[in-house]
Amino acid sequence: MGDEPVARSRAAFTREAPGPADARSGWVETSLGPVRVEWRGDTLTRVDLALEPGDAMAAGRPFAPRAIADRLAAAVDGGDSEPGPVDLTLLTPFQQDVLRAVAAIPRGEVRPYGWVAAMAGRPRAARAVGRAVAANPVPLVIPCHRVTRSSGEIGAYSGGGPGIKARILRHEGVDIEALAQLVRRGARFVGDPTAGTFCWPTCHQLGLVPPTRRILLPNWTSALQAGLKPCARCRPLPPDRGAD
Ligand SMILES: [Zn+2]
Repeated sequence: MGDEPVARSRAAFTREAPGPADARSGWVETSLGPVRVEWRGDTLTRVDLALEPGDAMAAGRPFAPRAIADRLAAAVDGGDSEPGPVDLTLLTPFQQDVLRAVAAIPRGEVRPYGWVAAMAGRPRAARAVGRAVAANPVPLVIPCHRVTRSSGEIGAYSGGGPGIKARILRHEGVDIEALAQLVRRGARFVGDPTAGTFCWPTCHQLGLVPPTRRILLPNWTSALQAGLKPCARCRPLPPDRGAD
């Protein structure tokens, strides 16, 4: 008789968490806050950003096993790393290509939707890229927070709104205020006259260029007119290949 409430709550949990019978779920404490994860074997199937300390406490345990927690920690605090096994099978092949392109954006940098579209082989499909990014089942692990609007503005974040997006990017070392200032000044790219190249504003290649020597560029054409070549590392793109 005493077991009845437990059995009832377990049945409710099963109804609320549909999926393969062997999928498991738990919480991970990250330096950004608690994150809820689902996994099957060593494959991550879902990541939900709770980011409110009370949520994990209210949900109670279990915490995810160490191997899963370590992968989340690597995604949040580590350098550039492969996302490892993730389940994207519910997405279309194009959406999977989009998320692979997103996974290649270096930590601490951002790229616009149009760039991701070009890298996924579908320039001018920025809107479809937006839908694919919003469908990302494993945020943080596949860093969709690094995708911005074409203007350079931070933009929407399906994981929980621009506040959380800005917080994650700051955690990775992105200077959000400097980025916003570039948007206000209409600068799409930043030129390095010494190297003779121009970059997306967050490219690490610009790190050694003193701010006073940087050239702010409103568009691709102005960069070429200044005699600059696109940086081979961050790969700026002309508007007709998806930069706008
Ligand atoms: Zn660059």
